[in-house]
Amino acid sequence: MTRKTMHIGIDDTDSTRKGCTTYVTALLVEKLQKLVEFIDYPNLVRLNPNVPWKTRGNGALCLRVRYDKNFEDKIKETVISTVEEHADLAFKGTDPGIVFFTKARIPREVRAFARNATTGIVKLEDALKLVAKFNGEAMGYNKRRGIIGALAAIGETLQRDHTFEVLAYRIPENYGLKRKVDETSIFRMDKATEPFTFNNVDEEKRRVIITPRGPDPILFGVRGETAEAVKKAFGLVKTLEPVERWVIFRTNQGTDAHLKKVEKLADIEPYNPVVVRGTVSAAPHMIRGKHVIFSINDRAAEVDCAAYEPTGALRKTAIKLVIGDQVEAYGGVRRSELGRPVTINLEKIRVLRLTQKIVYQNPICPKCGKRLKSMGKGQGFRCEKCGSKPADASKVAVRVKREIQKGLYITSPRSQRHLTKPFRRYGMEKCRKPAKMIEDWHSL
Ligand code: ZN
Repeated sequence: MTRKTMHIGIDDTDSTRKGCTTYVTALLVEKLQKLVEFIDYPNLVRLNPNVPWKTRGNGALCLRVRYDKNFEDKIKETVISTVEEHADLAFKGTDPGIVFFTKARIPREVRAFARNATTGIVKLEDALKLVAKFNGEAMGYNKRRGIIGALAAIGETLQRDHTFEVLAYRIPENYGLKRKVDETSIFRMDKATEPFTFNNVDEEKRRVIITPRGPDPILFGVRGETAEAVKKAFGLVKTLEPVERWVIFRTNQGTDAHLKKVEKLADIEPYNPVVVRGTVSAAPHMIRGKHVIFSINDRAAEVDCAAYEPTGALRKTAIKLVIGDQVEAYGGVRRSELGRPVTINLEKIRVLRLTQKIVYQNPICPKCGKRLKSMGKGQGFRCEKCGSKPADASKVAVRVKREIQKGLYITSPRSQRHLTKPFRRYGMEKCRKPAKMIEDWHSL
């Protein structure tokens, strides 16, 4: 009996109207468990959230297994038939991909490809070249774009910082109906498992955020630091409708894996998630929809920063910045429009240095102490009370107390990207993968 290792990457089986690639993976866990030994939790790898043709979570999946060589064909057939049965192949824009990779160790080039797919834009032809180079097999449907994510999920081995998510699925009869989960139990679960779970609730709006909206098969998902923590949390959530199955995934969610430091503003490219430093060069202003826009610059370039209304706390900080403040901006880069520079859609902002905020006030009347009125630009001042017009009066600079402090500000949980590292995770970062798996990481 010859034991072999296989990495199975899957991506883009879902559409806005149905499905979820994590669900296809959950079905495969059940179907393959008699044929293989899982050497890792299924990996849920979130790729660049700023890729323009992706509207949903941009998550790809990978199963890593050991198996007897005799089962190889059976395993591949099971994967292919399950994807074909559950992918929304008739939907324009759903371009599923499957990659089989039988190298035990993932080559450095494939790991680099995964990193590029998370922090930037990669091409299908580059994915196909790598698959061919390392004797993998790629299958694509429609435009075959899913092959990119499938290979990237294989290449992201989550050796360093990672998190877990337990996903519970609904029975098909309930798809599209309102999700029935006891909200009080979720607030209680959050308190009972903190700081080892995150993004369960949005405190600002007192809203539960573990249940998605929409027609997909997910009932809820709890994210956390360890498999044990999310499993405990799963047990504390009281559901008021049946759970068809559940699986624990290992993921790059909540790790900031997408954000890449760029030294100069001039080097920022559209669709890339970046971390850049600059000085506020145009004061924040609110536009329609309560979004806040301001500009930052460095010696050579200027970019716009946008804090959208749902970013909550972040938007409230952004509006208090003044010209001269030094900040570090974190977020996805949007293409330039209408002659404006590119825009960073802010996920986080770090206030590095606050400048002095000065306002200019009219001087006080030297005779009666009342504040003088301006008689128009360059026309001097006049006292309304005693009528004096002091010739040497000029505006007085007054330093105003700043309403914000230096430090890190993060968008509210309800508007965080899957990849955004929330406050609760700071200091929890891991530098190696878990030594072993827990026994029951999925329903039987
Ligand atoms: Zn006066």
